[in-house]
Amino acid sequence: MSEVVNVAEIFGKNVFNETVMRERLPKSVFKKLKKTIEDGAELDPSIADVVAHAMKDWAIERGATHYTHWFQPLTGVTAEKHDSFISTPDASGKVIMEFSGKELIKGEPDASSFPSGGLRATFEARGYTAWDCTSPAFLREDAVGVTLCIPTAFCSYTGEALDQKTPLLRSMQAIDKQALRILRLFGHTDAKRVVPSVGPEQEYFLVDRAKYLQRKDLIYAGRTLFGAMPPKGQELEDHYFGAIRERIGAYMNEVNQELWKLGVTAKTQHNEVAPAQHELAPIYDQANLAVDHNQMVMETLKKVAGRHGMTCLLHEKPFAGVNGSGKHNNWSLTSDTGINLLNPGDTPHENIQFLLVLGCIMKAIDKHADLLRESASDVGNDHRLGANEAPPAIISIFVGDQLEDVINQLCSTGEATHSKKGGTLSTGVATLPNLDKDATDRNRTSPFAFTGNKFEFRMVGSSDSIAPPNVVLNTIVAEAFKEAADELEQAEDFDEAVHDMIKNLLADHRRVIFNGNGYSDEWVAEAERRGLPNIRSMVDAIPAITTEKAVKLYETFGVFTRAELESRAEVEYETYAKAINIESRTMIDMAGKQIIPAVIKYTTELAESLCKVKAACPDADVSVQTELLQETSALLSEMKAALADLIDITEKSLAIENACECAHAYHDKVVPAMAALRAPADKLEMIVDKDLWPFPSYGDLIFEV
Ligand code: ADP
Ligand code: MG
Repeated sequence: MSEVVNVAEIFGKNVFNETVMRERLPKSVFKKLKKTIEDGAELDPSIADVVAHAMKDWAIERGATHYTHWFQPLTGVTAEKHDSFISTPDASGKVIMEFSGKELIKGEPDASSFPSGGLRATFEARGYTAWDCTSPAFLREDAVGVTLCIPTAFCSYTGEALDQKTPLLRSMQAIDKQALRILRLFGHTDAKRVVPSVGPEQEYFLVDRAKYLQRKDLIYAGRTLFGAMPPKGQELEDHYFGAIRERIGAYMNEVNQELWKLGVTAKTQHNEVAPAQHELAPIYDQANLAVDHNQMVMETLKKVAGRHGMTCLLHEKPFAGVNGSGKHNNWSLTSDTGINLLNPGDTPHENIQFLLVLGCIMKAIDKHADLLRESASDVGNDHRLGANEAPPAIISIFVGDQLEDVINQLCSTGEATHSKKGGTLSTGVATLPNLDKDATDRNRTSPFAFTGNKFEFRMVGSSDSIAPPNVVLNTIVAEAFKEAADELEQAEDFDEAVHDMIKNLLADHRRVIFNGNGYSDEWVAEAERRGLPNIRSMVDAIPAITTEKAVKLYETFGVFTRAELESRAEVEYETYAKAINIESRTMIDMAGKQIIPAVIKYTTELAESLCKVKAACPDADVSVQTELLQETSALLSEMKAALADLIDITEKSLAIENACECAHAYHDKVVPAMAALRAPADKLEMIVDKDLWPFPSYGDLIFEV
């Protein structure tokens, strides 16, 4: 048994949070900082030295030797450069520990080595990290020692955002401003801020580290590039919510403790659908913290796995044929006075403010479906979206029976007079309590589902940052709110104007509502009839971010400039091409150096034994051996030809200079060539002796963790 932990005692232990600040900062400084954090006021640089000093003392008391500006460049992961606190030794050779306000507020990492999509040439190296005081500094304890991590935004010398955080903070300002206008219209004059709340549910796989190390595809690409299905997959559904095994339990226990110390509210854990797949969900938080915390969750999941002899795979599709991993992004809007704008109450038909918010969200999603789709695309997610396990690549909204009924009433008669009720669920067992039913069932197949008082965007990939989807949600809803507020603020008869507006919004954008089975072929056809976009891949999704529609949206709300959008598109194309290039080269390596030699060995042994049998007994029936030899040799030559093709196509694709064309070549030509190489190899795996096969099988990986 592991030792007993007092969660309340360790929670937030490594965070420079409000309690610590209140204790350690002079009152006036604390007040000023809190004003910036809570009201979005500009940071007063004169307090930086005092805060830095207090932060340093606190960190050093806890064993910290270094500090780092922790930021989120466009690589999808976080970046950091560590500096120790030591100063130049004095005459006697002594050092003191220093950390100035300037060092807290501003860092200067070399920007040229991070993706910038042409915003920065290699010689234009200067980039800055700027302290984001709305996300608290924290201490990370690991083999490096104790490091003070300061969450920062990352910009180029010319002020363009080079990271995920800057546009997120900008989009939070936009939605704050516009949502407040909506609240004011309904008489909520006391609210000062509206903040998006986000709760991401993180899925992941765990595999045994020793086996992982035998697979180059897992090492280089984070997913298997070869592998035949084991006799058992997930068909029995015995893993989902199954009892958590000891080894995994010990791992989850340590992950939770690490996260709690970092102030991350790890809350829910369970086994997922696929064997070896699990999920972790924190309690929702404001968007900016949720994004930072999700990065910490991913880092912690990976780090702790190593300590338990395992490797955590965050890839969206580590194994073909079994479920992949996603990240459900739960999103709502809450005022500082505690109003959740997405709460319909018990009688949504009477809740005019909610219906207006719902109409605006429907409009936003309908108009900018392409942007939302793009925000969830990453290389790995191409294997999931539209592949009957994740939501389809078509964006639609699930609102459930109750709201759909209200929408129908409003659209058909112009009035909504009642709301469906959930009722009571009778269990049929006298000793069990009857349960209050929700007014609406769930829908697992919808990409954007209303779940009571929040929307759950279910398309995001498990390894991806959740910043982009939230940037999109915040900005597109801000736009719809702005357009509504512009009109309603001028209305002579507010009640009539808002009633008409809701009716029009619901009627105009009803096509984006779909409550049925999103995995079905009928829906694909129906969506096409409705004119909803069905964007099938990452490379097809990328152009959405540079359309005139997108540029206008983002420039209006100061979230991205045209140059930033163009640079991001460039980065995405480059990322796609690079990732597929790595996968292709890994396959070439494994096929040429491991699989083909193993198959040759197998056929040689088979041929030798065939000869021996013939020699010993000329009349023996050797048809089985002969057939096997023929079949194996045919597959081997198919593999060899496919390998030669893949080498050739990859080389040609790599040589293409234009990033967009290059990415398309990888998508249209290299990916199919990879599939053509994989097919015979997977068949061979089913034939060749297990002892000869050069790496662990799917069964070894997912059933023997
Ligand atoms: P599910 O049954 O879909 O797992 P949960 O209620 O457990 O739903 O929530 C899943 C995630 O959604 C959690 O991270 C949770 O904190 C978050 N969540 C709950 N309410 C809200 C809300 N109002 N806004 C944003 N996220 C929320
Ligand atoms: Mg959920």
